[in-house]
Amino acid sequence: MSAPVYGKMAVIGCGLIGASVILAARAAGAVSEVAVADASPQARERIAALGFADSVTADPADAARDADLVVFAVPVLAMGEAARAAGPALKPGATVTDVGSVKGAVGEALAAALPDGCFVVPGHPIAGTEQSGPDAGFAELFQNRWVILTPQARADAPYQAAVERLTAFWTALGSNVELMDDRHHDLVLAVTSHLPHLIAYNIVGTAADLEGVTQGEVMKYSAGGFRDFTRIAASDPTMWRDVFLTNKDAVLEVLGRFTEDLQALSRAIRWGEGDKLFELFSRTRQIRRGIIAAGQESAAPNFGRDLRPAAETPDTKPQ
Ligand code: NAP
Repeated sequence: MSAPVYGKMAVIGCGLIGASVILAARAAGAVSEVAVADASPQARERIAALGFADSVTADPADAARDADLVVFAVPVLAMGEAARAAGPALKPGATVTDVGSVKGAVGEALAAALPDGCFVVPGHPIAGTEQSGPDAGFAELFQNRWVILTPQARADAPYQAAVERLTAFWTALGSNVELMDDRHHDLVLAVTSHLPHLIAYNIVGTAADLEGVTQGEVMKYSAGGFRDFTRIAASDPTMWRDVFLTNKDAVLEVLGRFTEDLQALSRAIRWGEGDKLFELFSRTRQIRRGIIAAGQESAAPNFGRDLRPAAETPDTKPQ
């Protein structure tokens, strides 16, 4: 374990991701003190009982005071309000980041809410599960996962040093860090994460509403592919509502393309064009194998989920 990257870290919003950042930072010795603020009394009670923070409060300003690193880990549409509450207490030179799944809107909200003199470096760990709340956090969540930072368009040396220090922090937590333009992040994630969630929410909703198939049959015969969609569609409703409302343009753009491709598939099925179906399914199989080769998924059947007890099986998935 090397020297801490930061002294005091404040985490504003301590659910699945906030708790995981703390546990991973503690395990790596990346910070020496942790203060937490969370709006939920139930979450605060659990955080105190779990004992991974040095202090727990309802007030973001209390937690952020004297912090060297402030991490906003609230739902995307709550970022502005949380930043406005913490802003007046920030010490000059503090680094401020977040873990929100959308970067354009969050970057704007943080920049508008926070005082000059702190270094705002938005971020997004591409790791998560369908669980919520502090009890769902675990220290290994970010191991070998990508973290995308979307720095502001600033070339001054102190800001660049803040970006480098935040990169060192995530690296200490086991992540690979990439810097990216925020709008490009939002387009990439619309394809790899947001659209898949929309499809999962839609297919599970369709199955639930389908006349002629009972709810009992949906549950009983779910192993045939449907079950993996239900896991994604169990993701937090607040978080995902906010993602779609704040990444509207990119999601609608890829949804338009997806709808066209789906029409082409339905035409191939209607006209018995087996070659077209076979060619696509072969290409997609290669993509899956590429993801496994890149170490971002397990090759075990059923994603290895049946091999370990549920409590030990973090279903990590891109978010
Ligand atoms: P979570 O488990 O629901 O935790 C969020 C916590 O923040 C809740 O305890 C919530 O309290 C609290 N909160 C809400 N507004 C607040 C405010 N203004 N001030 C202080 N606390 C506030 O959420 P999560 O899954 O950790 O997600 C957090 C962020 O990470 C989101 O922006 C999400 O887009 C991003 N992210 C999530 C994943 C994932 O897999 N879940 C992956 C990558 C990134 P209440 O319950 O009372 O609202």
